[in-house]
Amino acid sequence: MPRPTNQGRLVVISGPSGTGKSTICQELLRRLPRARWSISATTRPRRANERQDQNYHFISREEFERMRDAGEFLETAEYLGHLYGTPAAPVRQAVANGEYVVMEIEVQGGAQVARAVPDSIRIFVLPPTMETLRTRLEGRQTESSEQQRRRLAEADGEIGFARDSGCYDYFVTNDIVDRTVDEIMEIIEKETART
Ligand code: 5GP
Repeated sequence: MPRPTNQGRLVVISGPSGTGKSTICQELLRRLPRARWSISATTRPRRANERQDQNYHFISREEFERMRDAGEFLETAEYLGHLYGTPAAPVRQAVANGEYVVMEIEVQGGAQVARAVPDSIRIFVLPPTMETLRTRLEGRQTESSEQQRRRLAEADGEIGFARDSGCYDYFVTNDIVDRTVDEIMEIIEKETART
């Protein structure tokens, strides 16, 4: 696996809720040399299994808006009524240190990163079928069934946007997670070798 040279790379992973993005990102962080996780800020309430400043920086809407107005985010988006954003400073620092920065963000954010950091590697993860997505979402204990329904309803629009916007160069179907990660590692390897 080639290392990023003096300049690191941003690796953007997007896809509908329930496609297994988080598991994929964890595995990428384990496998990539010199990789760092981008911790997003969000106004969404913390789930029982999440840790402050580890999964997310859980902040108030006021604090989020202050940071946004001060230009502290690389990108921001609203998803199902909550704000999400990537603090820019840690990303810039890690890239300057020659690290891979792995970010899991939704598609509006992906489009902003495509504009702001054109050499980022942007990958969209698809579920094998919409039925699998529904089963996976329903199997999660972390959200109410109403929240699961809303997340599923978002999926079609997200997939359509990802395809039509041209912001994603790569689409991978997450059937067997190990194979998906192999595929993403190959993409990163190819992109790193190319530049
Ligand atoms: P969740 O509430 O499930 O943690 O995240 C909801 C959606 O927001 C997911 O698609 C996730 O990838 C996305 N997301 C998480 N952090 C960020 C961020 O910093 N920016 C953007 N644009 N989306 C994010």
